Amino acid sequence: MNVHDSEQMAALLADCGYKTTANVKLADLVLLNTCAIREKAAQKAYSELGRIGLLKKQNPNLVIGVGGCLAQHLGSKFHKMIQHLDFVFGTHNIHRLPEMVATVEKNREKITKIDFHKSCMSIGIYAPPANGARSAFVSIMQGCNNFCAYCVVPYLRGRETSRPPEGIIEEITKLASAGIKEVTLLGQNVNSYGNTLEKQTTFAQLIKEIGAIEGIERIRFTTSHPRDLSEALINCFADEKKLCEHIHLPVQSGSNRILRLMNRGYTREDYLKKVDRLRQVCPGISITSDIIVGFPGETEKDYQETIDMMEKIRFDSTFSFKYSERKGTAAESLEGKISEPEKQQRLKYLQDLQNRHTMQKNMELEGSIQKVLIEGRSKNSEYDLMGRTSSWKIVNFKGNSELIGKLTDVKITKSFLHSLRGKLIEEVGNVHRDESIGVDN
Ligand code: SAM
Ligand code: SF4
Repeated sequence: MNVHDSEQMAALLADCGYKTTANVKLADLVLLNTCAIREKAAQKAYSELGRIGLLKKQNPNLVIGVGGCLAQHLGSKFHKMIQHLDFVFGTHNIHRLPEMVATVEKNREKITKIDFHKSCMSIGIYAPPANGARSAFVSIMQGCNNFCAYCVVPYLRGRETSRPPEGIIEEITKLASAGIKEVTLLGQNVNSYGNTLEKQTTFAQLIKEIGAIEGIERIRFTTSHPRDLSEALINCFADEKKLCEHIHLPVQSGSNRILRLMNRGYTREDYLKKVDRLRQVCPGISITSDIIVGFPGETEKDYQETIDMMEKIRFDSTFSFKYSERKGTAAESLEGKISEPEKQQRLKYLQDLQNRHTMQKNMELEGSIQKVLIEGRSKNSEYDLMGRTSSWKIVNFKGNSELIGKLTDVKITKSFLHSLRGKLIEEVGNVHRDESIGVDN
C-alpha cells in the first residue's frame, strides 16, 4: 500500500515538473513515505531522516517532506523532533502535495497537514505505469474499522471508505490501454468493499466487472480479513478465470483465546473451514498469511496452537512478526507482556517451520507447467527472465527480452525457498515442447 502511495506522490510531482533521480545527492526535493505499524519501522524512518538531513549542509535549498503513517501520528511534533523537515503530511493529504511543495518553495515556511477527509481524495490519484510495467496497484478503499487490539491502522488511516466502482473501472481501463495486464486491488479489508457506498456493490461483483475489462489478464487483491471472507468471494476463485490462484489471509494466531483478545472476530475453527472451502473450489490455491507472536498474555499453549494451525494448513508462505506495542491501541493496556528473548525464540522456531513448509510446497511444483507473467530480466543473471506464477511464486528461466510482458507456459525444473527455476515451453500448434535453447541449469 505504501509503495502505491509513493507511486501516486511521484505522479503528482511529475505533473509539477519534477523528475525522479536515483542519486539522492542530486535531488531538490526528498520525500520520505513512512510506516508506523511496528516500532522497528518508525526507528528506520528516524535514522533515514537523519541521513537525509545531512544533505541540507551541501544544498541549503533542499526541500524535505515526510508523509505516511508516522507523519500522521506525529503531526507538528515531527518538526520539533527533526528541525530540518519542511513539511509533514498525513495519509489523507497526498493530493495536496503540489500545493505544499509550492508553498514551501515560495515562502520557506514549515507546513503540517494531517486532517482527515470524509471522502478521501488521495485514493483516486492516477499513477501512470512505469515504462514496460505489466503489473499495477489500484486502491479500492481507504482506512479500516476493525480496531484489532494491536493495530494502529484505524487511527492513522481513518475510517473505512470504499471508492465508487466507476472510478476503479475507469482507472483499470486506462491502465489496460497503457499495457498493464495484471492489477492488484488494495485495501485493508477488501472483503468489506462496498459497505460505505450509496449504491451497494460487493467485492465479488467488483471482481467480475474488472474481469470484463479487455487487456486485463490477471486480478489479485490484498488484504482479506478472514471474518469477512464471503462464500461469493470464495466462489470467484472457481468462476472468475482472471482471478489468480492466491489469497493472503492473515490468521494472526491459532489460539481462540488470543484471537478474542486481538478482537479479530473469528475462531480457529472458522478459519480452518474457510481454508477448506478455498481448497475445495480451487485445489491449487496458494494461501499466505500474517502471524504475530508474543501478543500480551500469549502462553506456551497458545503459541503451540498457532504452530499446530500452521502444521494443519501448511501455508505457502507467511509474514511473521514479534508483537510491537503501539501507543493508543487496546493491547497497550493488556497484562502479561512477553519478554523480547521469549518473542525472539517463538519467532525463530515459527519461521524455521514455515521455511520447511514453503520448501515442501515449492517442491510439489517441480515438473508442473505454470502460466507465468514475465515481469522483466532476472536480478540474478543477465541470461534469465523473471516472472510470477498465478500462485505468486517467482520463476527464473532463460529467454529473450521480447517475451517481457507475455503470459507464457513454463515448466518448473527446480525449487528453492524463495523462487523456482523453470524452462520455457514453446507452443507448436497445439503441442507443447520444451524450449531447450541456451545453457540448461
Ligand atoms: N489489514 C490487514 C489484516 O487485517 O490483516 C493487515 C494490515 S497490517 C498493515 C499488516 C500486518 O502487520 C498485520 O496483519 C499484522 O500481522 C502485523 N501487525 C500489525 N500491527 C502489529 C503490531 N502492533 N505488532 C506486530 N505486528 C503487527
Ligand atoms: Fe489493522 Fe485489523 Fe484493520 Fe488489518 S483489519 S488494518 S490488522 S485493524
